[in-house]
Amino acid sequence: MNNKLLRINLTEGKIGNEKIPEKIIKQYIGGTGFISYYLFKELKEEIDPLSPENKIIIATGPAQATRIPITGRYAVGAKSPLTNHIIDAHCGGFVGPELRMAGYDLVIVEGKAEKPVYISIKDDKVEIKDATHLWGKLAHPTEDKIREDEEEPRMRVICIGPAGENLVNISCPTADLHHNPGRGGLGAVFGSKNLKAIGVRGSGKTTIGNLDKIEEVRKNILDRTKEAKDAGAGMFKYGTSNAVGFSNEMSQYPTRNWQSGEFEDHEKLSGVDLDEKYTAIRKPCYNCPIGCSSTLDASAFPWTDEKEIARPEYETMAMLGGNIGLSDIETLIHANYLCNQLGLDTISTGSAIAMTMEAVEKGLLSGPEFEGIKFGNKEKILEMIEMIAYRKGFGDILAEGVAQAAEKWGIEHLAIHVKGLPFAAWDPRGRLGLGLSYATAAVGASHLRGWPATSEVPKDKSAVDVVDSLIEQQDYKSLTDCLIICSFSYAIKGGFSFDDRKKMLSAMWDRDVPKEEMMEIAQRIWITKRLFNINQFDNYKPIEYDVLPPRFMNEPLPSGRAEGSKAFDTEEDFKKSLQLVYKKRGLDEHGIPTKKEIENLGIE
Ligand code: SF4
Repeated sequence: MNNKLLRINLTEGKIGNEKIPEKIIKQYIGGTGFISYYLFKELKEEIDPLSPENKIIIATGPAQATRIPITGRYAVGAKSPLTNHIIDAHCGGFVGPELRMAGYDLVIVEGKAEKPVYISIKDDKVEIKDATHLWGKLAHPTEDKIREDEEEPRMRVICIGPAGENLVNISCPTADLHHNPGRGGLGAVFGSKNLKAIGVRGSGKTTIGNLDKIEEVRKNILDRTKEAKDAGAGMFKYGTSNAVGFSNEMSQYPTRNWQSGEFEDHEKLSGVDLDEKYTAIRKPCYNCPIGCSSTLDASAFPWTDEKEIARPEYETMAMLGGNIGLSDIETLIHANYLCNQLGLDTISTGSAIAMTMEAVEKGLLSGPEFEGIKFGNKEKILEMIEMIAYRKGFGDILAEGVAQAAEKWGIEHLAIHVKGLPFAAWDPRGRLGLGLSYATAAVGASHLRGWPATSEVPKDKSAVDVVDSLIEQQDYKSLTDCLIICSFSYAIKGGFSFDDRKKMLSAMWDRDVPKEEMMEIAQRIWITKRLFNINQFDNYKPIEYDVLPPRFMNEPLPSGRAEGSKAFDTEEDFKKSLQLVYKKRGLDEHGIPTKKEIENLGIE
């Protein structure tokens, strides 16, 4: 690594470089590890996430901008204004590798600028610049204007749209036009600092590690990618949208605010259907041979004059698809485009719209402003997205997040979230132990925190039996997110195994890194995130937050493969399996890490 941290204080206009201590690299590797360490170490207790005291951390991993493929990503973290817990969201594209080529492993932005600004990073020339002329702009024109102003056509940009400026708790930055670190309201954290964007251009090379070993890892990944591609794996052709059919078959496809796990019109929303109707343009992230990411030729869409727009990913195809009762693919693409430009997390936006639709249909919300709202109403869907981004009408309430809106409206039983983070698009009633993953993740209901390796449904089964597998997978995922390897690396032949991670880290660190050391790092990160959360609340009892919404505990799925299944077979089974996770993770019965565990892991 360059071991270099770029720190920018917007209040003082100060820019400085620091060395990341070797000890911290050894303890946390990079990516999500750095985010957990620096947030825990540097954020005071119980800060307001939209105050200057919050920090935005952008972290790369050891392999970014090296010859190793599938590493064209980065992580963005902060204290989430949506959940008041830690958030680390991951993003594809080019910003991460570009940061490393500019010489930085980590960027920390703190304080608050007096007026709108953007940060320009060109190798070691780093400047805070006026962004008054950019404030109010949508994401794509913002990126284009920064490249024009900087006279850097290849500058990589991460920026916010109006939703972030309006401090919408479900807003997110947009990067490289079509990528988003989506979860947890990071757009609002940018907005709270008057930070419109960060543009990066790097010209250096990352020259660390054992070059022979790096070449071995590179070749192995490329060979296995080719084998999987030649075998016709759908991921290479359709990207994540290919998962709609699979998810529906597994009873995991969210439908009408999670009232069901299968959607009668799911075939209209498949990746195959998308590609039959529209022209996809492959747009792989930096140095990625899988290349699942694509855009769409926008000439087919009368509502935009852009040349190409984002092709929706699976999560969007579900949360702005079946979950809001929408089966019209063009409206879904339009909704995705609006979220992208306005800077909204499609998962949380879909969740907010779905909750409102169910409440209106059930007569729990009424009045002129809710007229016409029902599942599948195309006009209302597009209207509500704009209302949330600009905080218009009841959009101002939804902009706070589903948990907050549900509390205000007295419809808490319809709010589908953990710790305030709306569920990602996989129903835990369709997969044994997935509910434990959602419940125990520090960030809330993210689908990217490790699932137990099973395809069984919870009915008549005990989640206790998959606790070991869950912990192992949580740790593997954590290592993936420290190394910053794409989660979709599973698409290569044989998947991206623990051994692959070990070989990669050993190549980068130029020594054999034993499995025990790597698993200890993963455990340290898991505990550090939990400690951060505990610090951020007065008298925080983790067990009160490690819970699932009542819908998944009490309402069995009405149909499909997992018909009759809840997230746990019984309430007792949930409690037993949760306590087992606590015990194996070194927590007390309330979910608080024991002093002994903290000391053993060397967390300071
Ligand atoms: S697999 Fe897809 S999302 Fe992952 S790095 Fe490659 S193109 Fe990007």
